Amino acid sequence: MAGISGDVVVPESARKLAGKVALITGGASGIGECTARLFAKHGARVVVADIQDEAGARLCGELGEGNASYVQCDVTVEEEVAAAVDHAVARFGALDVMFNNAGIGGEACHSILESSKADFERVLSVNLVGPFLGTKHAARVMVPAGRGGCIIGTASMAAAVAGAASHAYTCAKRGLVGLTVNAAGELGRHGIRVNCVSPAAAATPLATRYVGLEGEAFEAAMEAVATLKGVRLRVEDIAAAVLFLASDDARYVSGHNLLIDGGFSVFNPTLGIFNDS
Ligand code: NAD
Repeated sequence: MAGISGDVVVPESARKLAGKVALITGGASGIGECTARLFAKHGARVVVADIQDEAGARLCGELGEGNASYVQCDVTVEEEVAAAVDHAVARFGALDVMFNNAGIGGEACHSILESSKADFERVLSVNLVGPFLGTKHAARVMVPAGRGGCIIGTASMAAAVAGAASHAYTCAKRGLVGLTVNAAGELGRHGIRVNCVSPAAAATPLATRYVGLEGEAFEAAMEAVATLKGVRLRVEDIAAAVLFLASDDARYVSGHNLLIDGGFSVFNPTLGIFNDS
């Protein structure tokens, strides 16, 4: 994936995750893939966990045998999440950063009258139960290892503002913010920080499928409704925020939901007081 940071090599002295081991669920595509690339540039060894075997294995091949490893993992299946965490420890000796990122958009159905129970349960299973299992099993190895750690989830702007996504997706992401603060409360005593990011829409397969627009058309549509003009949200922006939270730059940040939405969720333009400016 071509990036804002592109092929820039990060000099050793500037690497933010040197010696760290990270596990990224949903790491084969979109935000997870971009974060895997950025983490690797910053010196981390990365385990990519996903259900897209070909894409995940290809990415790890690009990152190099000694730096990355793919593991098949459906985040809704506890045994598979446990095995992915154990794989990180067996392959690279530890787990320092758990990025609970895998997610699905679910049905693009907005009325509660037409929303199906099956879709609601499926979205909650991947987008909330998955991060719960990831947090639980990351803590299972981080706590006894005694070297602290960092757990990050991908929530969404939909957790902060109504009308951005389906009921299922909104509930799952808001639940993830709840999991983040509660786990931060429990795990802080072990030196483990727990945070999440809440991005607005970026053109990944999940988002373009949900919105029904691709590439430039997708970005233009998002820019039209954005609060922050002149810049379009890219997966690289989200990966950069995740890197910040994973690194020592954020060593006293825990229980935080970092919105990456250009101020969208805190501004209601219909109130009109800035309309002439
Ligand atoms: P994506 O479709 O590019 O990536 C999602 C990845 O999750 C895929 O590789 C997919 O195979 C994997 N996945 C799906 N179900 C899985 C399962 N059961 N077990 C393991 N892996 C599974 O989409 P993305 O936009 O990069 O999504 C990443 C996260 O970002 C999701 O949690 C999504 O809800 C969240 N998010 C995305 C946006 C956006 O606009 N792209 C905005 C806010 C939040």
